[in-house]
Amino acid sequence: MGPDRFSGVYHYKAVTSMIKPESLLIERIVRQIVVDEKFMEMALEEAKTAGSEGEVPVGAVLVKKEDIIGRDHNRCIQFNDPTAHAEILVIRRGGEIIGNYRLVETTLYVTIEPCPMCVGAITHGRIDRLVYGAPDEKTGSVSSKFRLLNDPDLNHRVEVKGGVLKQECSEVLQGFFKGRRP
Ligand SMILES: [Zn+2]
Repeated sequence: MGPDRFSGVYHYKAVTSMIKPESLLIERIVRQIVVDEKFMEMALEEAKTAGSEGEVPVGAVLVKKEDIIGRDHNRCIQFNDPTAHAEILVIRRGGEIIGNYRLVETTLYVTIEPCPMCVGAITHGRIDRLVYGAPDEKTGSVSSKFRLLNDPDLNHRVEVKGGVLKQECSEVLQGFFKGRRP
């Protein structure tokens, strides 16, 4: 792909140069798109690392006010731990760094729509925003298979954005399972 792809600083500059200074809201929205893609690229790198280690290739990055406080990938096989999903590992790391089990003002980036366990952890952790890449028809618990997040009975609301670098995130996962079939 060339330098003009819909990603990165080039795109941000190209778009913002067309915006009048009073259009701060639009600039903020565009900036959020660029920031979200930047962190999702990092989560994708983590996913690829997981795949190279024989783990299901899912990667996650946890960010507090644009500072990375955790980045990791699935390690269930390495740790003999069914809970060692990418999201859980970065949430644990983030809690250590913040020094609190409530991860307020954080955004969790993950390449695939989270499962029920991870949605539970996101809610318990009071994470502000969830940004995910590709949907997961089998266990996705935000909008695909189940809708566990933002149930009216839950007292914590999470802002959700799905489909960021969806194609790339989906391809990493599909490529991994294709390569495993005999
Ligand atoms: Zn999970």
